[in-house]
Amino acid sequence: MTLFEKIAAREIPSEILAEGSDWIAFRDIAPQAPVHFLVVPKQCIPRINEAKESDSILLGTLLEAAASTARQEGLSASGYRVVINNGPDGGETVPHLHLHVLGGRPMNWPPG
Ligand code: AMP
Repeated sequence: MTLFEKIAAREIPSEILAEGSDWIAFRDIAPQAPVHFLVVPKQCIPRINEAKESDSILLGTLLEAAASTARQEGLSASGYRVVINNGPDGGETVPHLHLHVLGGRPMNWPPG
């Protein structure tokens, strides 16, 4: 089981913000912004590079879940950023697809 599968199964504690039948949103343990949470599919796709056409509906669900959880967190008016890190150069450290949602401060562009 991956780290995020264990969080979804409540085997590892986390602050869960929202959940659907095939996804879960929880606060990042090392927040990079005043609001920083992850949206994760319960069934592991290692990274976006490994996503298949048959994952398309799930991928759309994850984006909608990111937006609905951001609204719940009060980020609608101020805005937020959604990030997926893929592979070594992308900064991926956990091999289970996750969307970062960051808000509560202005984000820099270009990203580091
Ligand atoms: P990435 O570097 O894009 O793979 O992102 C992995 C993220 O998972 C990092 O932002 C970590 O802080 C976060 N993370 C690692 N362990 C946990 C945990 N137990 N609970 C919540 N977030 C975690």
